[in-house]
Amino acid sequence: MEEKTVYCEKCGKANKEGVRFCSGCGAPIESARKNVNRSVQIPAGRAVNTAWIKAYEAFLRIEQVAWGILGIILIVIFILFLIQ
Ligand SMILES: [Zn+2]
Repeated sequence: MEEKTVYCEKCGKANKEGVRFCSGCGAPIESARKNVNRSVQIPAGRAVNTAWIKAYEAFLRIEQVAWGILGIILIVIFILFLIQ
């Protein structure tokens, strides 16, 4: 009978393959979880990108509001000239 062993990353103790926790120190065996961590890193990168896009959209919105206020001021000045 051949049993594969997985070594604990924390204490180095040999555990049977398939066990979820180290029999020596109780730490979770990470052999299956590393792939999960790698797939999580991609959305984390996308989150940074969307943060930049949101900041850019907020800047565009502020610019639009600024142009709107400037337009209203110009119209008010134009009306005041007409009244005089
Ligand atoms: Zn251990």
